[in-house]
Amino acid sequence: MKKLLLFILFVASIKFSFAQSTDQKTAFEVSINSNIQLPADSLIAKKLIRSINHLISLTDSESITSIYIDSSDKAVNLGLLSGMGSVPASDTDNFYYKPYLTNVYQLPSKDYAIQIAYIGVSPHKTPLLYYVTTFIAKDKGNYFTFSAPLARNTINWHKEKIGMINFYYKLSLDQAKAKSFADYTADLCKKFGQPLFTLNYYKCENEQEANQLYGLDYYVGANGDNGGEGGNNDGVSTFLSGTNSEEYRHDMFHFFCGKFIKADERCRITEEGSASIYGGDWSVPADTIVYQLKKYIAANPTANLYDLFHTNDRLYKLVRFQVAFSIVINKYVEQKQGFSGVLKLLHAGAEEDNYFKALNNVTGINKDNFNVECRKLL
Ligand SMILES: [Zn+2]
Repeated sequence: MKKLLLFILFVASIKFSFAQSTDQKTAFEVSINSNIQLPADSLIAKKLIRSINHLISLTDSESITSIYIDSSDKAVNLGLLSGMGSVPASDTDNFYYKPYLTNVYQLPSKDYAIQIAYIGVSPHKTPLLYYVTTFIAKDKGNYFTFSAPLARNTINWHKEKIGMINFYYKLSLDQAKAKSFADYTADLCKKFGQPLFTLNYYKCENEQEANQLYGLDYYVGANGDNGGEGGNNDGVSTFLSGTNSEEYRHDMFHFFCGKFIKADERCRITEEGSASIYGGDWSVPADTIVYQLKKYIAANPTANLYDLFHTNDRLYKLVRFQVAFSIVINKYVEQKQGFSGVLKLLHAGAEEDNYFKALNNVTGINKDNFNVECRKLL
């Protein structure tokens, strides 16, 4: 279901994609229209622009060691600023989104707030806004370093530690819900065989607020309300939830997979199943999804279950058949073998063939017997 990995990381998508950065570089320098005010000291202005041009040329891998990304709170800064040099093509290579400097102003700390917009122009001369980001520039003498504005944007928020989680919130915190969610994350640590770590959880009103607090003013892929969920995170210890709630179990499961499973080993099919077992899918609880699957199969006795699994068709509301089958299979595996069986499937890799190879090893279910074996589980 919904995921929040940032396009800037180009691990992108709003619905959880596993596409990896191509680390392809663009050669764009930031464009500065004549109406944009720069710092009055021209030496500082030049140094700032030079540093921005370094920042926006970095691939993901270069970002990790770059001096231009502030090293304090590095994971959060990388979550916003990593890989800005990898700008996707629009319809054709001729219409790449290009970076424009749209705002520079000094903060009370003497740092600068910088706003950059990636804008393209269609063949019909329509402007296409891709994303707009605001971040902080700190003068280091010979160059500027850049950081995400999350701490500054949430300076007036409340903070409360419950279990392994620092809950950040604006108005109120439901203690019982927060405690239950902290227990859930502690249980996930156990399931993944990892020690407890400190998790920073921001209770945001919606995905828009989560993005804006993080420094992502606008992203075309996140426009609209996206079903009232979504959010943003740094993949390490900071998670901004767009659920307006003390919990976001579905995406927290994805977060754990991102944190503890190598990118090329992650298996989306399995992940969606377990994330939905613990947190529902598109606000539909797992039990309802299984009930709907049984109902469908009873009404369509000749349906081939593998064909249903393989399509992207929706079973119920926005829930896909594949997610429903993955729920049924993961429940069965967890019941028979504990979570270690599910972990094997979670490491199967991205392709469906790899999933079935792992599934065959763990359960004996494969493509050929899927129709027969899955009926037994329902
Ligand atoms: Zn999901």
